[in-house]
Amino acid sequence: MSGKKGESSPARGGQKIEVGILGATGAVGQQFIALLSGHPWFRVSWLAASERSSGKRYGDLPWRLSAPLDEDVASMTVDTLKAGVGPELVFSALDSSVAGEAEIEFAQAGHTVVSNSKNHRMDPLVPLLIPEVNSDHLALLPLQREKKGWKGAIVTNPNCCAIPLAMTLAALKKFHPTRVMVTTLQALSGAGYPGVPSLDATANVIPFIDGEEEKIEKETKKLLGMYANGGVEFHPMTVSATATRVPVINGHTESVSVGFEKPVSHEEILAAFEKFCGEPQKLGLPSAPPRPIVYMTQQNRPQPRLDVEKDGGMSVHVGRLRTCAILGHKYVLLGHNTIRGAAGAAILNAELMEHQAAHK
Ligand code: NAP
Repeated sequence: MSGKKGESSPARGGQKIEVGILGATGAVGQQFIALLSGHPWFRVSWLAASERSSGKRYGDLPWRLSAPLDEDVASMTVDTLKAGVGPELVFSALDSSVAGEAEIEFAQAGHTVVSNSKNHRMDPLVPLLIPEVNSDHLALLPLQREKKGWKGAIVTNPNCCAIPLAMTLAALKKFHPTRVMVTTLQALSGAGYPGVPSLDATANVIPFIDGEEEKIEKETKKLLGMYANGGVEFHPMTVSATATRVPVINGHTESVSVGFEKPVSHEEILAAFEKFCGEPQKLGLPSAPPRPIVYMTQQNRPQPRLDVEKDGGMSVHVGRLRTCAILGHKYVLLGHNTIRGAAGAAILNAELMEHQAAHK
């Protein structure tokens, strides 16, 4: 049963929880600011980015989203990456070239870092979290603190293609998926700002995204893995990914084929997508979409231009379920890469963690 939105608020005495954003000026950083504007639990009180942006008023830097820039945030001055200065809870949208070391420094200084970057995702002591899929993996945190000696912590959200893929596979986990083949058609905003040069991207398909296929293959297995005895045992399924970049602004489309241990009907798969929900829906977390997976029956859907912004960009839209002559079943999915695939995912992770902390 779904809870009422925000009823489990951990905010005390009417005060919202202060949050900081590392990498506040990038594609994901801006999405954090847009999604946190008016958030019922969190208030942005600190921004950090590189020397290129630090010392500047945030509102004087280029704002690239159609959502209006929050006035309070616009008046803030961007800081450098100074661990120990900002609020206890920080979201990280840092470029991976700096995220690795910076996030450790913040965790050592006592911050809880909720990160989008790839650097710590495969660390056996770091939860790689999708609240609807593996909220039990947060049990790694006490062990992380003990073994790393950090006063704070690092929690990561997965790669922007691994998230919607893992959500659909989690819905089908009870049928024991054994083999998965996925080809992605990834939006330009997935490469950050300014991203792919326009002369490469326009009217073109680029059949290579550095490191992406490995991330999708490995992270999906960790996400669907079982937490036991202080570690995550990876799911035994085989995943094979091909990643491509296409001239779409927002929204990663994925063509997925999946084989199961035993025969499964399309009706059973559709019912599993329809029923799929998790802790965010049960707890009524503020960023939880009512239905994490929305199956579209029209033959030519989902499409990024028509469907990616629906449900605040937090649902995975799925369609075209049909027979695969090789693996058994195939379908198409669409996820918003900077919302469900990045900033929205991290905010949902933080909401779950704050809820758990307040209800210990
Ligand atoms: P982006 O647009 O290139 O933004 C990168 C951010 O990192 C900017 O705020 C930048 O600050 C900051 N930065 C770069 N070098 C820095 C340094 N030396 N010190 C401090 N800050 C520095 O990238 P993005 O697309 O937002 O991605 C951010 C992270 O999220 C990456 O790790 C990416 O892999 C991950 N991610 C992205 C997506 C997506 O769809 N875009 C999805 C999932 C995960 P300045 O503006 O001051 O340079």
